[in-house]
Amino acid sequence: MDAADMGTDLAKTLLSEEEIARRLDEMAAEIDRDYAGEEILLVGVLNGAVMVMADLSRRLSTPLRMDWMAVSSYGSGTKSSGVVRILKDLNTDVHGKHILIAEDIIDSGLTLSWLVRNLSSREPASLKIATLLRKPDAAKVDVDVAYCGFDIPNEFVVGYGLDYDGRYRNLPFIGTLAPHVYGG
Ligand code: 5GP
Ligand code: MG
Ligand code: MG
Repeated sequence: MDAADMGTDLAKTLLSEEEIARRLDEMAAEIDRDYAGEEILLVGVLNGAVMVMADLSRRLSTPLRMDWMAVSSYGSGTKSSGVVRILKDLNTDVHGKHILIAEDIIDSGLTLSWLVRNLSSREPASLKIATLLRKPDAAKVDVDVAYCGFDIPNEFVVGYGLDYDGRYRNLPFIGTLAPHVYGG
């Protein structure tokens, strides 16, 4: 399935299912090497990171636990508000744990830098970030991304967990929306 199967809503496929799968294989191999002998607390940021969590975690052989946080930083539009609110906190006490945050995308990095500060104050043993996608603006923020799947252009993308107004999260590929969908 790709953008061509989606009628006129999707402008193009940016990353196919196969490209995503191959890159996740590589990222998982790297993470397994880096965490040898440790246990990971994989923290997924809802809702966008559900696919990354599911597909990355299944490729890891490092022992791990999973936990979830929900934060809100975007409204229903395509621009970051810069305001971060915890909608659901972790169930786990992260003190002394090796946190690996799994993210779908880093754009302005505002959400993530806030999250890193928040989780660091809980004194984990370590804290690293794995993101499937990163946009150019992320370079302006002072967050160190240990594992990045793809650096993508500054376009609004959907699919593989990423939504526009709640839709398209279930697409197995990542694509760009046709301008008419968001009123462009
Ligand atoms: P940031 O705070 O780094 O600007 O973005 C945080 C969140 O905004 C991401 O986790 C994601 O939910 C959303 N976001 C940023 N860029 C995009 C995009 O291109 N498409 C979609 N669907 N969401 C995005
Ligand atoms: Mg996210
Ligand atoms: Mg969203």
